[in-house]
Amino acid sequence: MPSENDGVMIVLSSPSGAGKTTLVKMLSKSDNYEISISHTTRKPRPNEINNQDYYFVNENEFKRLINNQEFLEYAKVFNNFYGTTRTPVIDKLNKGKNVLFDIDWQGTKKLSKFKELKLIKIFILPPSKKELEKRLTQRNEDKKEAVTKRLQSYENDIIHWQDYDYIIINENLDNCFRQIENIIKTNTKPVKIN
Ligand code: 5GP
Repeated sequence: MPSENDGVMIVLSSPSGAGKTTLVKMLSKSDNYEISISHTTRKPRPNEINNQDYYFVNENEFKRLINNQEFLEYAKVFNNFYGTTRTPVIDKLNKGKNVLFDIDWQGTKKLSKFKELKLIKIFILPPSKKELEKRLTQRNEDKKEAVTKRLQSYENDIIHWQDYDYIIINENLDNCFRQIENIIKTNTKPVKIN
């Protein structure tokens, strides 16, 4: 049963390349915020660390987790599976931690169905598609065809902004970060001091 002192779930979604992963990492540096580490069947990028950025697993393992009903939500994104396991999230919330999710609109829709969970949904947009293309190309982490695929899904991704509580344009990373911090502060109760 959720209680008054449980943490809050903060979801950040965006079209790929809008800066959400960086923002989630910046937020996680504050006390009382923990990132939900997802499982994925995607191959790690050169700078990514297993068990830290993701739990990188193969499709068989992912299917085993689905069959064991271990996922709070999961989705197929760009031909790979991504999912959030239930137990670590519930444990963190029960300890009063706020949990940050870097997940897509499909996962957000699924989490929204758990009415008993406190959820703040934030959608981050790049200033323009042109700027997004620049960032995805500069990021230089994905092969050219992966960048093209991500750009192609941009229009389909942004129509889901309506499912979110807040929309922020990431023109400047620090401003965007401060806006998110303010949203979280106004939606979470102050820590009680006895
Ligand atoms: P990337 O491959 O760039 O790390 O992530 C691709 C997309 O998958 C991003 O939009 C990211 O937010 C989303 N994603 C990452 N983890 C999860 C997850 O556990 N569930 C869902 N539904 N989406 C995820």
